[in-house]
Amino acid sequence: MKFVYDFTEGNKDLKDLLGGKGANLAEMTNLGLPVPPGFTITTEACKVYLASGEEPPALRDEVSAHLAALEQKMGKKLGQPDNPLLVSVRSGAKFSMPGMMDTVLNIGLSDESVQGLAQQAGDERFAWDSYRRLIQMFGKTVLGVDGDLFEEALDKAKAAKKVTVDTDLEAADLKKLVTTFKKIVKKEAGREFPQDPREQMDLAIKAVFDSWNGERAKLYRRQERIPHDLGTAVNVCSMVFGNLGPDSGTGVAFTRDPASGHQGVYGDYLQNAQGEDVVAGIRNTVPLAELEKIDKKSYDQLMQIMETLENHYKDLCDIEFTIERGQLWMLQTRVGKRTAGAAFRIATQLVDQGLIDETEALQRVTGAQLAQLMFPRFDEQAKVEQVARGIAASPGAAVGKAVFDSYTAVKWSRSGEKVILVRRETNPDDLDGMIAAEGILTSRGGKTSHAAVVARGMGKTCVCGAEELEVDTKRRRMTVPGGHVVEEGDVISIDGSTGKVYLGEVPVVPSPVVEYFEGRMHPGADDADELVEAVHRMMAFADRKRRLRVRANADNAEDALRARRFGAQGIGLCRTEHMFLGDRRELVERLILADTEEEREASLKALLPLQKQDFVELFEAMDGLPVTIRLLDPPLHEFLPDITELSVRVALAEARQEPHENELRLLQAVHRLHEQNPMLGLRGVRLGLVVPGLFTMQVRAIAEAAAERKAAKGDPRAEIMIPLVGTVQELEIVREEADQVIAEVQAATGTQLKLAIGTMIELPRAALTAGQIAEAAEFFSFGTNDLTQTVWGFSRDDVEASFFTAYLEKGIFGVSPFETIDKDGVGSLVKAAAQAGRATRPDLKLGVCGEHGGDPESVHFFHEVGLDYVSCSPFRIPVARLEAGRAAC
Ligand code: ADP
Ligand code: MG
Ligand code: MG
Repeated sequence: MKFVYDFTEGNKDLKDLLGGKGANLAEMTNLGLPVPPGFTITTEACKVYLASGEEPPALRDEVSAHLAALEQKMGKKLGQPDNPLLVSVRSGAKFSMPGMMDTVLNIGLSDESVQGLAQQAGDERFAWDSYRRLIQMFGKTVLGVDGDLFEEALDKAKAAKKVTVDTDLEAADLKKLVTTFKKIVKKEAGREFPQDPREQMDLAIKAVFDSWNGERAKLYRRQERIPHDLGTAVNVCSMVFGNLGPDSGTGVAFTRDPASGHQGVYGDYLQNAQGEDVVAGIRNTVPLAELEKIDKKSYDQLMQIMETLENHYKDLCDIEFTIERGQLWMLQTRVGKRTAGAAFRIATQLVDQGLIDETEALQRVTGAQLAQLMFPRFDEQAKVEQVARGIAASPGAAVGKAVFDSYTAVKWSRSGEKVILVRRETNPDDLDGMIAAEGILTSRGGKTSHAAVVARGMGKTCVCGAEELEVDTKRRRMTVPGGHVVEEGDVISIDGSTGKVYLGEVPVVPSPVVEYFEGRMHPGADDADELVEAVHRMMAFADRKRRLRVRANADNAEDALRARRFGAQGIGLCRTEHMFLGDRRELVERLILADTEEEREASLKALLPLQKQDFVELFEAMDGLPVTIRLLDPPLHEFLPDITELSVRVALAEARQEPHENELRLLQAVHRLHEQNPMLGLRGVRLGLVVPGLFTMQVRAIAEAAAERKAAKGDPRAEIMIPLVGTVQELEIVREEADQVIAEVQAATGTQLKLAIGTMIELPRAALTAGQIAEAAEFFSFGTNDLTQTVWGFSRDDVEASFFTAYLEKGIFGVSPFETIDKDGVGSLVKAAAQAGRATRPDLKLGVCGEHGGDPESVHFFHEVGLDYVSCSPFRIPVARLEAGRAAC
């Protein structure tokens, strides 16, 4: 196996092997851009090292050979006393990762070669500055010395000279600093700073390998779901010097604005500086445009290179460069990060420039970015007082009074206050408070902390791990940096998309993207900004491309209309239980308690017109589009009063010797219907089979509503869906009754009705016998929420708040299976059931309803297994449309 690649040997598609940095250095080299020569040690070498604890023997030889070739090319040897070749050792994994080893520059310098460098460059100051940087970086990153010790020594040296910037230190000062730095290394690392250049290089390479398994890197990978076995590459790159005086310098540049996407000159430049000086902010950088005045030739060349890179990568690139005495060198490039808004704009801009086509454009944006653009946000014009920044754990903009415990959160929110729950960290006891709050703020914990996981599950704004905040729950207050104290009841604002925390109320503005979907803002109109225009066009690309249809989960006309505006192509799930609440609960109660046939008939008769009217409205809102109505699903006792409350009422009445016959009857019924495990109890089709007349009443309401809409020249397209079926026999019985009712309604109204009858697939048994079930079902809708619960054997409400945090931290899940479909388990059942169903009935319509229908990764999966549609909440529809389009690319 080949472990080392010269920059001339690689290319940008070899990121797995050469890491992002190495692959792009090779690409630039081969484009003929000025890249300092060097080579890349592969991730494979790293993997062997990590597995065996030793560098593969062949690696040393290969490095020697490549180093020799590099020395030959450069006409000098690594660390050669009179004319040293210096190199940087740079980590570079496939994905850039915090926690990986920092780059070490100027490797090859020693007490001897520093003199040679001074002579060659004709600049003693420069040579000693480079040497002190090497000892500092090497000491910190390779030998593990506390970096502050070097910084303090540097500050002392500046103070002694009464200067403020490092460039004002002279050769003699730097020489002294080198001695100090070496002492620090000796004391802290227990060894001398190595003088042998090859030893420096080898130690640095090993340190890069080792940093792959550093705690911070591991944590980051877990959070970002990056596999642990990729390994990192190491780049050895000959040094160029930006610290050789005013005609040298270093900078960063973007080929277009990463915030707006606009083309132009974006970046920063710092004269007489090396490496990280630009980003470290030790001296003030100048805007890149100023480089034109400082060094016109290099500036023009850079502009040209930027154009070359954009045309080549066909995307926004960011760049690191250095100018050494008027000669421009490229040190890094990659496809640059951008804001969600810029991603949409850049994608359409590149289409307009003819650089990419629609299909490619769809690859440049994500549903997650679109979702981010749909959250209301804080008014950018508002004057704000930011006091801290934590981790953006769950997006949104929330404003409310700070409360420091769950009890107060619930109490205050009941009295109509908006509250933000502030905790050091949350635990399952905080659940009620989290539900009651507008948003959640914690000072501890990362993206997988309890607060973050639960908030995301609830779609609630959350900022976590804002470590600058001192939360004192006992005294119900928190102290922000600077000492200001936020007391219980003080208003704060948190931004779950950026992690920022503000004092006071920051005004919230609606998202222009939602305004557009709502039809309140039109692309092309004067007030429509570029973002709306870009989103509009990308949605059109996606709609043209996608095969999956997108429907909405909606129970009433209002939601249905909104869903239509957002692009829904029907309703995939109308839950009828919501129609039985409020005033109607009493009717349901009577139905459940009915002792006689007449009593039951009477309640059903009362419910029928109400239910029918619901459907008439829904069919009208969704005229011409399919509406899938799920018959009653939840356990019946959900419609009955709380058992404890009722017991108290009965006991009180008894004590007061008041009449309480009805209460007693009710209590007995509640007892009778009480279940240990209602999720697995009397619900779904089981209800339909044991409560006579319930399902047939619902079917009649649907059929009569459809007939009424037809009479009104409407186009109702109802589909009747039976929940929680486990075996085809259940479905057959319900179906037979339903068909009869439909026939009756047809006869009575003289209308021909086409009502499809199908089932949810949400139990493992249903999935496993899908071939049989399809005999009686015209469609399947996978209820992936329940299917996930029943396949895993856990109840969502209980487990998310209790042990999911631990599971995520231990890496058992990368993400909650309720958020993204568990492809291997639940997903494979979906796939098999879809195939079995279609084998029985080739025109079987297949859809999915449940949270996963709006989750980007899951949408791709449903596309792949050949479903016809996904159904999700109205607000997620644009995301599902976009991702369905992306999935089809
Ligand atoms: P990061 O991954 O943090 O960007 P880099 O490997 O790009 O780390 O290096 C950090 C800094 O050092 C960058 O500003 C880069 O331009 C500079 N640098 C790296 N290698 C060299 C080199 N051979 N010559 C000059 N500067 C270099
Ligand atoms: Mg870099
Ligand atoms: Mg269900």
